[in-house]
Amino acid sequence: MAKKGRVFSGIRPTGRAHLGNYLGAIQNYVALQDDYECVYCIVDLHALTTVEDTENLRQNTHEMALDLLAAGIRPQETILFVQSHVPEVTELHMILSMVTPLGKLTDLPTFKEKVRQQPDNVNYGLVGYPVLMTADIVLYKADVVPVGIDQAPHIEFARETVRSFNYRYNTHVLIEPQMKNTPVLKVLGIDGKEKMSKSLNNHIELAATPEETTKRVREMVTDPARIKRTDPGNPDICNVFTMHKIFSPQSDVDMVNVECRRAGIGCVECKVLLAKNLNKHLEPLRAKRAEYASKPDLVMDILNDGAKRARVIAQKTMEEVRAAVQLP
Ligand code: SF4
Repeated sequence: MAKKGRVFSGIRPTGRAHLGNYLGAIQNYVALQDDYECVYCIVDLHALTTVEDTENLRQNTHEMALDLLAAGIRPQETILFVQSHVPEVTELHMILSMVTPLGKLTDLPTFKEKVRQQPDNVNYGLVGYPVLMTADIVLYKADVVPVGIDQAPHIEFARETVRSFNYRYNTHVLIEPQMKNTPVLKVLGIDGKEKMSKSLNNHIELAATPEETTKRVREMVTDPARIKRTDPGNPDICNVFTMHKIFSPQSDVDMVNVECRRAGIGCVECKVLLAKNLNKHLEPLRAKRAEYASKPDLVMDILNDGAKRARVIAQKTMEEVRAAVQLP
């Protein structure tokens, strides 16, 4: 079947992915392969804007690649690679910087947020982060970029940058990417309050063992009004129930929905059931991951092959860009 166009997306090398990464992005990456030619990149250069200690960067990149492959990225058809393996992106970043007003970058809400988060490390790369992101997208001539609503300003920024470039150099070589709104699930951590995140240590890793997973699920915060086993609970405000709706069969969801409200099921029992269903759901992914993990050379070959294919597209784009800019 003919594909609808090319999708690009980048994912940070944060090491082993957690359920939030899986439900919020990776599952969608896998699904998009059916309809689009996909280019997925592990953005190690982006990571440098926030990570000062790079001791684990290689390992974290490898771990993310394992999770992507285990989740169902098909490397024969999809281009999966590491951002820094295609150095053309840094050249395009530099050229696009010349058509980017500084004020626009410092006005972006995500930049302001980062300044709040890391006031002692407001580096030049951090300011230019959206320009590098734009370079990523347009270097591979992506038609669409899957984004959640919070990333919409970045895609609008990319579109404006493309227009500025094409206008300044009187060309059409760069394509304005379209936003593909994706139903990004906001997955709460085991604290039931904050978005699932490694830095908050409220996450459950995809690659955790069944025992580790069960332990984490047992730590999940439930309806705070349910103090005693005999108190009725409210599943509508309980993150355990939210997870049941994602990972459990409908019969279990229906049962919890009824029994929780009349104290017919205790929270411990409810969590044990969730852990069982979650482990069952993740079993094939974990088996595939273990298989890839036992063949690190194969994973490296996949990433190298991806970079080679990505570079063919990147070099062609850069030839056109250099010609448009009239670089000698
Ligand atoms: Fe949450 Fe389940 Fe306890 Fe109800 S029984 S409060 S859904 S953990």
